[in-house]
Amino acid sequence: MKVQQKTQSESTSGRPGGGELALIQHIRSRAGVVHRPSVRLGIGDDCAILRSRPGEEIVVTTDLSLEGRHFRRDWHPAASIGHRALARGLSDIAAMGARPLAAFLSLALPAAVAQDRRWVDGFLDGLLGLAKRHGVPLAGGDTSEAPGDAVIADIVLLGAAPAGRALRRSGARPGDVLYCTGSLGGASAELGRLSANPGHFKAAKTGPHLFPEPRLAAGQALLRRGLATACIDMSDGLSTDLAHLCESSGVAAEVDVSAVPLHPLAGTLEPAARLLAALHGGEDYELLFAARSSTKMPRKLGGVPITCIGRIVPAKGVPQVSLIDAEGRRTALEPNGWEHFRGA
Ligand code: ADP
Ligand code: MG
Repeated sequence: MKVQQKTQSESTSGRPGGGELALIQHIRSRAGVVHRPSVRLGIGDDCAILRSRPGEEIVVTTDLSLEGRHFRRDWHPAASIGHRALARGLSDIAAMGARPLAAFLSLALPAAVAQDRRWVDGFLDGLLGLAKRHGVPLAGGDTSEAPGDAVIADIVLLGAAPAGRALRRSGARPGDVLYCTGSLGGASAELGRLSANPGHFKAAKTGPHLFPEPRLAAGQALLRRGLATACIDMSDGLSTDLAHLCESSGVAAEVDVSAVPLHPLAGTLEPAARLLAALHGGEDYELLFAARSSTKMPRKLGGVPITCIGRIVPAKGVPQVSLIDAEGRRTALEPNGWEHFRGA
């Protein structure tokens, strides 16, 4: 709802490059003309018009990125903020094994940020660079002046999957094997290292925290080849996301401590901190999935290494998630990743 007069949101339009309409036009020209079968009509009308293929279902996800909660403008390069906003949504699409159809971006910018084309262009460089690499058109959004001093970016992603076949959290059964893509703990190790020296944030051009890679090709391969019984992306941390998968599937899980693949950056932490980063750090955006024990799992999917990290067991009489050490001893792994409102 626009409580203020329309003229209010456009009151900056006299300044060079300012104004909502000019900003939308700028985003539109940066996004470019879309020549994708999935988008019949992109930015510029009241709605976008999308097309899926016969026999497909649509998957939808939305992700909020809030300044002060998900990023700090004084720390994170604008390109990282744009990249991460889209990566979070694409990772959800990956977890369903879907192919992305189109992205929508709702942006609330403080007036001074909207005027700062360097920031806006940095943000769009990050977002559109990732979108381009995965062939995801930016097909619409909404733009508003933020009432306060914080940037808000909300991303909506639509994807498509063969009807009835999208990967879910709920299909794991006792006897299944547990796998993950890539390695864990890198994002939290990188964030720890950068925040000890915030001056280093702006110079960084890569890294698992600043520029995470959503595992779209791996997720799509899991679906296409019928390899997984259940799947989730690890946004909050292995301990928390595995608990979600177990909850949805009505099962428990055992993780072999020595099998958890550590990201090289996590490997540089104090020994005691390494496993904590991998189990609870979050924001690695790797996929966690289960498969029948009879399924022959490739060593790589979509170019990413796959590691067996444990197994699914019946829910009765054991913790929902257990860690098993090298001697076979069991300890309960409490979900300890990120959760909003938990401190309240
Ligand atoms: P309306 O008022 O009808 O919602 P807008 O003026 O908000 O239209 O938007 C005009 C067009 O620009 C629409 O196609 C919308 O999807 C697109 N658009 C607006 N903001 C953004 C944005 N931040 N990113 C991408 N597209 C946008
Ligand atoms: Mg609008």
